[in-house]
Amino acid sequence: MINFHPDNALLAAYAADTLPLSMTLAVSIHVEFCPACARRVAEFERQLAETLLIGEPQNEADEPVFDEMLSFILQQPETPIVQEIREPTIEIQGQTFWLPRSLRHIARQNWLQMGSIGRSRLLLEDQSGGRASLMYLSAGAAVPKHTHRGLELTLPITGAFRDEQGEYIPGDFVLRDGKTDHQPQSAEGCLCFALLDAPVHFTQGLPRLLNNFGELLY
Ligand SMILES: [Zn+2]
Repeated sequence: MINFHPDNALLAAYAADTLPLSMTLAVSIHVEFCPACARRVAEFERQLAETLLIGEPQNEADEPVFDEMLSFILQQPETPIVQEIREPTIEIQGQTFWLPRSLRHIARQNWLQMGSIGRSRLLLEDQSGGRASLMYLSAGAAVPKHTHRGLELTLPITGAFRDEQGEYIPGDFVLRDGKTDHQPQSAEGCLCFALLDAPVHFTQGLPRLLNNFGELLY
């Protein structure tokens, strides 16, 4: 069962479409896994639509414009046509993995392998500076202990990982700020969506070597 969810502020901002692109993507992946958050988003959208439509026209002259706008909105197709130009699966190290719908049409860089950790950056035009990637921890992989100078979001897609605070399964929305240091590891292997807004900062081991590695992970 999914234990970690975006908070209400994040879900409301997602419904209002005011989040940076990489965070919008993160929330939409979670919503694919989580019917409870999907219902909350639908409720925020309904409230927003009500707020937009509740205002009575100021005077008679405004009415035609309002009616025109309303009929234009009602004419829009109910479900947007999503063109999926990529396969619903990807292959990593000879294994095939299912991909959430929201990720399928997003172009990616080739996999960059650093020991037991692989990363493929998603090519998003994100003005916020956030960097989104697919990460793959091979079975038995452990990321050296590190903190974050900014925000780190990790969302398992297939497989699980754990750190000092717990275990995370597909759909878990694991959002960390710069205050925690942790050591993620995966016994069986884990494909994740990862979003960072600053390079990872390693606190243990060979700092110079590892912090170059942190820049690579970002
Ligand atoms: Zn949720």
